[in-house]
Amino acid sequence: MLGIKDVHVRYGKAHALKGVSVAVSEGEIVALIGNNGAGKTTLLNTVSGLIRPASGDIVFEATNVLGASAEAIVRLGLLHVPEGRHIFARLSVRENLRLGAFVRNGDLSADFDRVFGLFPILKERAKQPGGTLSGGEQQMLALARALMAQPKMLLLDEPSLGLAPVMVEKIYRTIVEIHQQGTPVLLVEQNAFLALNTAHRAYVIETGNIVLSGPASELLANPAVQKAYLGGL
Ligand code: ATP
Repeated sequence: MLGIKDVHVRYGKAHALKGVSVAVSEGEIVALIGNNGAGKTTLLNTVSGLIRPASGDIVFEATNVLGASAEAIVRLGLLHVPEGRHIFARLSVRENLRLGAFVRNGDLSADFDRVFGLFPILKERAKQPGGTLSGGEQQMLALARALMAQPKMLLLDEPSLGLAPVMVEKIYRTIVEIHQQGTPVLLVEQNAFLALNTAHRAYVIETGNIVLSGPASELLANPAVQKAYLGGL
């Protein structure tokens, strides 16, 4: 469904992605794990049209999206929830959600029902400014806002970042639920344990190269992965 092939990205002299290939099929949660600075965010930003790669191919559902604008990519149904959430602090929760549906026409009531069903706390806070939500609630709002566009695939950048364990658990349960409702997910995480326990398949990225890939259960059992990413479990 999403094919990223041999993508190179440079920031001036820095070669941030050195020929990265990643695929996501229908029905999958795929994780990309790696340390700080490995290139995870760069890859998601490239797929969603925020960064132009030096070379490579990115195909989403038979459409070559390389060089397409970020807006065109959203219209194709590929939705990126960036690290740091980026909600509109002064707008209400409901207004934030409505903006998520900017690519859509028509009645949004079924979409509001869906996201309020997934995140009941957002219904309770619907009239509150987004900036008054807790970090975890803002992460929920960012995810819910992406769902308002009725995405065909989600790109999630570090949804656990900076959140208390109980909130992380809740966010991840909802990611699994969203996937079960039919949306494949490409998930970027520094928390490898969490990512590998959630995903079907995973890729390990180190300084711009994919160094390992396979079923998440295999990577969890791999001694090199355990040593480098799982605290030597
Ligand atoms: P983190 O988990 O810390 O977000 P990451 O795996 O997402 O890390 P990237 O943010 O993709 O890593 O960064 C990959 C490399 O590219 C790093 O060496 C980073 O310093 C560099 N880099 C990222 N953005 C820029 C930029 N705008 N200009 C120059 N170098 C950049």
